[in-house]
Amino acid sequence: MKRRYILIAFLCFAFLRLNAQTDKQMDSFISKLMSQMTLAEKIGQLNLPVSNTFVAGERKDGELSPMGQRIAKGEIGGLFGMKGAKQIRALQQVAVEKSRLHIPLLFGLDVIHGYETTFPIPLALSTSWNMELIEREARTAASEASIDGINWVFSPMVDICRDARWGRIAEGAGEDPYLGGEMAKALVRGYQGKNNDFSQQGTVMACVKHYALYGGGEAGRDYNTVDMSRQRMMNEYMRPYQAACEQGAGSYMASFNEFEGIPATANKYLLDDILRKQWGFKGFIVSDYTGIPEMINHGIGDLQTVSARALDAGIDMDMVSEGFTKTLKQSLSDGKIIQAQIDQACKRILEAKYKLGLFNDPYKYCNEEQASKELFSAANRQIARETADECQVLLKNENNFLPLKKGGRIALIGPLGDAASDMPGCWSLTGKAAQSVSLLQGLKEAVGSNGSVEYAKGSDLVADSLLETKLNGMMGFVIPGMKVRKVHDRKPQDLLKEALDIAGNADVIIAALGENANMNGEGASRSIPDIPEPQQELLKSLVATGKPVVLVIFTGRPLILSWEDENVPAILNAWFPGSEAGTSIAGILFGDINPSGKLTTSFPRNAGQIPIFYNHKNTGRPHGDFESYARFRSNYIDVINAPLYPFGYGLSYTKFDYGDVTLSAQEMPVNGKVTAKVTVTNSGPRDGKETVQLYIHDVYSTSTRPVKELKAFSKIFLKAGESKEVSFVLAAEDLKYYNHDLAYVCEPGDFEIMIGSNSRDVKKAKLTVK
Ligand code: BGC
Repeated sequence: MKRRYILIAFLCFAFLRLNAQTDKQMDSFISKLMSQMTLAEKIGQLNLPVSNTFVAGERKDGELSPMGQRIAKGEIGGLFGMKGAKQIRALQQVAVEKSRLHIPLLFGLDVIHGYETTFPIPLALSTSWNMELIEREARTAASEASIDGINWVFSPMVDICRDARWGRIAEGAGEDPYLGGEMAKALVRGYQGKNNDFSQQGTVMACVKHYALYGGGEAGRDYNTVDMSRQRMMNEYMRPYQAACEQGAGSYMASFNEFEGIPATANKYLLDDILRKQWGFKGFIVSDYTGIPEMINHGIGDLQTVSARALDAGIDMDMVSEGFTKTLKQSLSDGKIIQAQIDQACKRILEAKYKLGLFNDPYKYCNEEQASKELFSAANRQIARETADECQVLLKNENNFLPLKKGGRIALIGPLGDAASDMPGCWSLTGKAAQSVSLLQGLKEAVGSNGSVEYAKGSDLVADSLLETKLNGMMGFVIPGMKVRKVHDRKPQDLLKEALDIAGNADVIIAALGENANMNGEGASRSIPDIPEPQQELLKSLVATGKPVVLVIFTGRPLILSWEDENVPAILNAWFPGSEAGTSIAGILFGDINPSGKLTTSFPRNAGQIPIFYNHKNTGRPHGDFESYARFRSNYIDVINAPLYPFGYGLSYTKFDYGDVTLSAQEMPVNGKVTAKVTVTNSGPRDGKETVQLYIHDVYSTSTRPVKELKAFSKIFLKAGESKEVSFVLAAEDLKYYNHDLAYVCEPGDFEIMIGSNSRDVKKAKLTVK
């Protein structure tokens, strides 16, 4: 045993020494390089334009393209928005061969949930509660991107969000800071490798975004003002950003929103005091797309002022705006910034390039041959399939309506039923959207000759044809090869008639409804997040036939499903499952896969309940979640307090029973530990996976605390009839919070320790911390 410790100590020492050596080598390489750089070349390193064309570099006549000329002049530090190793290689060649100091470029891209092979959207990934699966998703995305020229991904997006109206809730891990932190770490590990060692094949640098608090915008409107106490910020929003830093994320992206009256892009408190000084972040920070000049609209100065303020606050790289290239020189001579600030930012960017190995081999990430074999490969699609299987949530299953038998006459109805291009969901610009498996294709393949699947669209996506036109394409872009759908080209009554004819002949109706991919993501807020009206009408008509109906929902946000929950026997929330959508959904509907996803956002009963989240405060006048209206309590006249489906909720085709929660001790010294245990039994007919969740409640503390806080979870597999004891070790660290003075403390006193299958159904034990 002792020997093992000595060996571990020796390895740690050797690792640290090696790191120190590499750091030293890097420092001397970069200071030598910087000593040769002009001011303009240094500012050039801070510049990140978007590529306006997928093809750049040399023109046919041998002259450089405008972008190429700028690269050759050293005006550009990196580029983003390009796809393809060949094009990227061509531009890298200009940087390396034609620029004075031969400094290679960073190539960034929004690789959010896959590259060519797409995976479930991040919100769906989070509902797997399976961190290994999520890490594997990111590793697969990184391995595809990294052979196709990309060395830097604008992911993970770790903004906590409690507002279903915000379109970008689709991109994150939902409403819980602890789960969000675990997912942030898993994604960074997946992109950068376990030790952040970029010499390992298939790794890329992560960019944590959007720092900070972007998900807390007022009224769920994108880019909107964020205003909250610092205590709330630290306790409820910051954990995922910090977790990503602990995991060694190489870069951060500042968010568009303001905080405390200062846009995040110029917010020294966020960027410098917290991220760099408190958390020790050593990498570089990039602004978001035109985040710098947007501060002119925020109203804090002209381009020169806001650019200087951004640099001063800690922004190292300017995405798209050219605010740095246009004004920093002037600001330097005006004394608004100092040379050391430009040097510092330049150094951080060169360090990133060094760590990525670009100075050794600028073409390291351009492997055209490998790319031709490995992108969108069968193996990667298989990983996408396995991931999708764990990322869907069964919301309702009355009388074990599901799984369906694989046969008979199936009517598949709804605008999302045959929508391959929507299956990847938002932010999948490089995905092979059209080659995704639609639900129709998935059902047909599963049923084969044992039955029939007939499809009808049934209704338009939304009632307004102009709006539907705007929701076409991919986030406002038309991707090459993507089919632009016809919009409102048939009369609603004809669509309905066709659907009802098919439904009338069927044994079962599968209604595929919800949002299309474009109704989520950036710039896609909704004031009433529900199934759009024409689809709701369609569903009502289908239910009115009296035939059994299964509702499969496509969405990137928690939708309002009150009517649906009351009237439809089975509801599967599929989110956007990615390249293998149809195969995976069919697998669940027919019972080849036992669903195991659990919600990471509360589902509201109506829009007025938003923002709704499980980890709310008790208030001085609490009111039971399911109690009817009572005057002078914290509740509503017209709706109960409980969400329709709570955080952590999701059904399975089997049943899990929980025993009582036991603690290894009723009391725990502040420096001690205690083990909480529960026995979980699969008492149903099938093998299945269950996520066991542990919540705490700090009964009395100097500041008010949430009614419940997730502190641990474990996803287990149980065979039918099998029992397992699940244990969690708790220490003061798990009971800490930021008090009113923002000190991170564990205050002695009583805590409730709750374990259960979701945030609502828990069993309790009492722990006293001495
Ligand atoms: C988004 C970022 C994204 C960037 C680059 C911005 O509009 O907010 O999430 O990484 O564009 O595409």
